[in-house]
Amino acid sequence: MSFYETLTRLEQLPYAALWQEYRVEDVKRAIRKEHLDERDLQALLSPAAEACLEEMAQRAQQLTRSHFGHVMQMFTPVYLADFCVNHCTYCSFSSIYDFPRKRLTAGQVRQEGRAISATGLRHVLLLTGESRRESPASYVKECVEILREYFASISIEVNPLSTEEYKELREAGVDGLTLYQEVYHQETYRKLHVKGPKRVYRNRLDAPERGCQAGFRSVNIGALLGMYDWRQEAFMTAMHARYLQNKYLECEIGLSAPRFRPYLGEFNPDSDVTDRALVQIILAYRLFLPRSGLTLSTREPAALRDHLVHLGITKMSAGVSTEVGGHTQEGGTPQFEISDERSVPAIVDMLEASGLQPVFKDWDLLAVQASK
Ligand code: SF4
Repeated sequence: MSFYETLTRLEQLPYAALWQEYRVEDVKRAIRKEHLDERDLQALLSPAAEACLEEMAQRAQQLTRSHFGHVMQMFTPVYLADFCVNHCTYCSFSSIYDFPRKRLTAGQVRQEGRAISATGLRHVLLLTGESRRESPASYVKECVEILREYFASISIEVNPLSTEEYKELREAGVDGLTLYQEVYHQETYRKLHVKGPKRVYRNRLDAPERGCQAGFRSVNIGALLGMYDWRQEAFMTAMHARYLQNKYLECEIGLSAPRFRPYLGEFNPDSDVTDRALVQIILAYRLFLPRSGLTLSTREPAALRDHLVHLGITKMSAGVSTEVGGHTQEGGTPQFEISDERSVPAIVDMLEASGLQPVFKDWDLLAVQASK
C-alpha cells in the first residue's frame, strides 16, 4: 500500500470530533507505552494533551538521551539558486516576485564552501528554488562535486526528482534528502500552490520514498506549520514518517516542524501554531518516533530554541542565511526571515552551557566510500 492510500483513508477521519474524544487518561497511557499506535499519536496531539506537556517533556527527554545521548548535530543551509517556476503563496522565491535572481557560479560555490567550513561546520544542506532549466539536477551535482572537498555530509532540498536523478546525486556525494510536503491537506495544497509543477501533489508526496529507494542515508520530511490545522498536519507528517521508517529500515527518517515566517508577500497566516502548540508537536513526534532525528531551524527565536534543545531535538542549524550566496555576498533576497541570527560559536556556547555536546561531523562520505 502506498502512503497516498493511507493518507486518503486518514483524510476521511472526522477530525473536529476526533480531537475532542481524547481524555487526559488516554494521553497518560500513550506516554507510558513503548510502542505507540495511530490512536496514541492522536491523543498526544489532542487538546487533552495540553494538560500533560510536562510529563510528555520528561518522557521525550528520556527517550532522546537514551537513543541519541547528549549530542546535537549542527548544520547550515547553503542557498545555491533562487530561480523558481512555481507560485507558492508563502515564499519570496515565488515566480510572481520581481527581483534580480541569482545562481552561484562554480567559483562562488567554492567561496561559500570555504567560508562555511571556516566556521567548523561539516554538514550542509544545499537548497535551490524549483527550476529544471536554471538549477537542474546536473547543476546541483556540479556544486556537490565542488563542496564535497569541504564537507563530510551533504544533503539537498531541491525540487522533487526521479529515483534515477536521486541515485546520480547520491553517487556524486549527496547522503541526505530534505523534502517538505508543505501541506498534507489536499484541498489546501491546491489553494496554496497556485502555479507551476509543484501543483502536482502526488509527485511531491512520493518524492521522499523515491529518495529512500535511491539509497540516501537520511530522508527528512515535514509540514509547513500555519497553513492548515496543525494537529492534523502534524498527525499526517508523523504517519508519513512511520510509513517510511517501517518500509525502508536502512534509511534514517527525520522530521522538522517549520513554522510559517514573514516573506516578501502579505504575512497573514491566520495561524494558531503558538509556542505551546509547537512544543506539543515536537514532543508528540519524539514519543511516537523515538529513534527519528528531529531538526529545529532558525525560523524559531533564540529563547525558544534554547528551551527546545532539551525536548527531543537532535539537529539544529546555525550561522544561517536564506539568501543565495549569503555567506559571502550581500544584497540577495531572503527566502523568508529567520528569527535566530546567532553565529556558529554562539550556538556552540549555548549548547555547551546547556550540557550538550555540539557535533560537527558524525559521518564522512569519503571514509565510507574508501571502506567499500
Ligand atoms: S517554496 Fe520552493 S517551489 Fe515554492 S516558490 Fe519557494 S522556492 Fe519555489
